[in-house]
Parts: sequence; structure tokens; C-alpha cells
Amino acid sequence: MDKLKVLFAASECYPFAKSGGLGDVIGALPKAFPKDEVDCRVILPKYESIPWKYVKEFEYLTNFWVKIGQESQYVGLFKYEFEGVTYYFVDNEHYFKRPNLYGYYDDAERFVYFCRAVLEAIPYLDFYPDVIHSHDWQTALIPFLLKEQYAWHYTNTKTVFTIHNMKYQGEYGFDDVKGILNLDYFPAQMEFYKNVNFMKGAMYTADLVTTVSPSYAEEIKDPYYGEGLDGVARDISWKEIGILNGIDEQTYNPQTDESLFVPYAHSQKKKGENKAKLQEYLGLPMKDHVPIIAMITRLVDQKGIDLIMGVIHDILQMDIQFIILGTGDSEYENKLKEIAYQYPDKMRAIIDFNEDLSRKIYAGADMFLIPSKFEPCGLTQMISMRYGTIPIVRETGGLKDSVQYYNNVSGEGNGFSFKTYNAHDMLFTIQKAVGMYYDQPDQWKHLMDNAFNTHYDWRLAADIYEYWYKKITGRL
Ligand code: ADP
Repeated sequence: MDKLKVLFAASECYPFAKSGGLGDVIGALPKAFPKDEVDCRVILPKYESIPWKYVKEFEYLTNFWVKIGQESQYVGLFKYEFEGVTYYFVDNEHYFKRPNLYGYYDDAERFVYFCRAVLEAIPYLDFYPDVIHSHDWQTALIPFLLKEQYAWHYTNTKTVFTIHNMKYQGEYGFDDVKGILNLDYFPAQMEFYKNVNFMKGAMYTADLVTTVSPSYAEEIKDPYYGEGLDGVARDISWKEIGILNGIDEQTYNPQTDESLFVPYAHSQKKKGENKAKLQEYLGLPMKDHVPIIAMITRLVDQKGIDLIMGVIHDILQMDIQFIILGTGDSEYENKLKEIAYQYPDKMRAIIDFNEDLSRKIYAGADMFLIPSKFEPCGLTQMISMRYGTIPIVRETGGLKDSVQYYNNVSGEGNGFSFKTYNAHDMLFTIQKAVGMYYDQPDQWKHLMDNAFNTHYDWRLAADIYEYWYKKITGRL
């Protein structure tokens, strides 16, 4: 049988453009499919921020125009082969020659344009996909547009839509977007309290809907997690599944990671050398016996920053060092800087998005805190375990599916966790972890070994995606 052809349409992909976990997923999953079975390619916006070392290698394919409202918009198409995967880039300087990926007044128009450009680019690609797999609200329009406006074009193409985060849905006033959508009727599949909701449209029109962990797939059917779309999630549960993300174990490999001060594998001693260098680098006291608790995160409500704020002084009463790297809400950014200023010997708050530093922290820290209110999958717990750093997480979504509380009798488990979204439950759990670090070094070493030996390789997830692609395209 022919290879299955899958086209990922997404707004982020590491190492070209990344603002969070979506970028990691799109950068890693296509590489994980068996090459002789699945030809998975990726199409992305050609952002200005893509490093020049890649852009200079791009091959120009063609250009054409798409209709967005009354305007015709230019689409330049580029192609790039990188680490065994074919990438396509959609070029339009009006929409994508900007410093950031998102956060602009016309984001709706930018991504309506992108979705339409993808659907109209395919005939120029020499690659007719069996499946178009779109991700999150930015590309959520693809299944809708394919069914409503391009069905005659793509009679044999199925659509998959993955929800990486239900919080961001792409919701807009119908009057604001009907022009750019080229729609003269109100689309029922997207109707959301008199607005249009791109994510809802994808959930109803895609042939398969996935989320990034089995627990989150269940949680979103509950109003607490469903962000207003829990009813839709229940309605489509017959075609919705949760597949736990993995991490790219080549990219995140402490043995080969060029950002690290000292490469290592399963070595507590060499990890300790990274810790000393990290302390020196950040101007913290170089005390090897003091545990470093780290966070690398978007500074938004989802990530439990309010829990941290609630008990930060209690956390800092312990003999620990606390490092947080992140960007996000300015209120959180300012508050964290202020607290770090009060504890110069114990805390650093680095308000930056810095891939290089993030890896130094994964390697140098002892514990990694993720107290999320909700977490569709979460990758930082998987990355930290790969670097032998012990996760302390709230039991939600993918955190629940990937971190098991360490049992010091059976010796099983790879981290610490707490159930209720409550600052003191979190504090208590951190105290337990710090207590074990100080008082039970043998247990701690065993726990580190368990973390090192935890693998969330993408191949496991890729097998499940492949099974479902085959199922919806009638190949099983
Ligand atoms: P989300 O996608 O919700 O932000 P994930 O845990 O799925 O959360 O993925 C976060 C990814 O972004 C990880 O690769 C993490 O290392 C990275 N990251 C988050 N904040 C920063 C930052 N300030 N600097 C560098 N990398 C970051």
C-alpha cells in the first residue's frame, strides 16, 4: 500500500518558531513516524523571527493569490528539507513580517489567511495529503473550510484536529470576521453565544479530534476544564481521543545538549557540576547541598502562578534556592521580580524567553515545580525528568498521566504530586520533597534514577496517531 500522506498545518514548529509546547510537538512528531509508512510534512507561516541560518536554505516554489474579503493577498511558497522532514512555508510580509508570532489586533485575519493559503497551496505542492492535521485555534478553520468551501477539491482528504489548549479558541464577533471568511451565512458549527468560535467549528467538522493526554480528553467534558466547550466535547466524544505527547529525546538529551555547561548521562555528580555553574551564572551562592527548585513557564493563570504568590515567603523560608524563567502577564512578571529582589541569596526571576538558559536550568535544578490549574499535556515535566530533575506537579491532565508519586517503600514513582488546587497542599508537597532531599539521600538518588529512566518517546504516540490516520482513511 502507498505511504500515508499527512500534512500538518500549524502556527509553531521548533526550531523555526516556538512560543510553547505546540512548537515542541510540531517539531518532533513528524520525525517520529516510520518513514516507509507515513510521509508527514509540515506547513507553517514564514515568520520574520525564523533564524536566518534556515531561511537562507529555503527553496522558492511559486506564488499565487488568495481572496481575503475584498482583497487579494499574496502567497509565496517555500520548501525546506530538514532532518528528514519536508517543511513548507507560507510567505506574506504584511501578515508575518512582525517581531512576535501572536498578539496582534488582526490575529484572526492573519490565521484565516493562513488556513485559506494552506488549502489553496496544496495543488502546487506535488503532495496530495490523505490527512490534513491541524492544531489549535490558529489552524482550526481548515476542517471547516475544507468541508464548506473546498469539498470538491479534497474529496479523499480527511481532517484531524488536535486541541493543545482549550483556553485559546479563536472567538470573534461574526460581523468582524464574516468578510474575511467570505461567508454570507452564520455557520452553525461555529456558533458560540452569537460569536463565531474557530475551535468549536473544528471540533464539529474534523473527522477526528484529539487532545494531548487521555486525562485532558476526559477533563474537557467537565465545565471546570471545558472553557465553555465542555458540551461540545461531550457531544463529539465518539470521535475524540487523548494521546499523550512525548518529547524529542534527541533534542532534549543531556549527553549532547550544547547549551549545558557539562554534558552528562545518568550522573548525579556531573549534574551537580551543572548546578554549581548555574548558581555561578545567575549569581546565586554556590552551595551544592542546597536544592534548587525551578520553574520554566508562561506566566499566566493556567500555570498556577497565583499558588506560588500565595506561599512564596513560606517556600523561601526553607533552605532552598528558587529559579523562575518565564514571560507573560506583566503583573506576575513585576511581582516575581520584586520578590526576587527581596531574596537576593535565594531567588532569581528571569523575565525572558530563553531556550539556552532553559536547558541550563533543566540540567542544574534538583526539582521542577508545575502547579498548573489545568495542563493539557505539559512537556516541562518530561524534559525535566530527562535531565534527572524531579517534577512536583498538580495532578491534572498530562501531568497526572506522566508523573507518579514516589513511593519510598516500593521504590516506584518518578516525582511528587498534589491533587487539589490549593497553595498549602502545594507547599506541603514541596516540603515533603525538600525533606526527602535532605534526609534521605539514598531515596533521592533512587528517585533520580527513576526519573532518568522515564521515557516519553514520541514513537509511542506516533504509533497511535498512525493507527487513527489509517482508521479514518479506511486503511484498516
Ligand atoms: P505550554 O505549551 O502551555 O506553554 P508546555 O509545558 O507544553 O507548556 O511547553 C512549554 C515549552 O516552552 C517547554 O519546551 C518549555 O521549556 C518552553 N518554555 C516555556 N517558557 C519558556 C521560557 N521563558 N524560556 C524558554 N523556554 C520556555
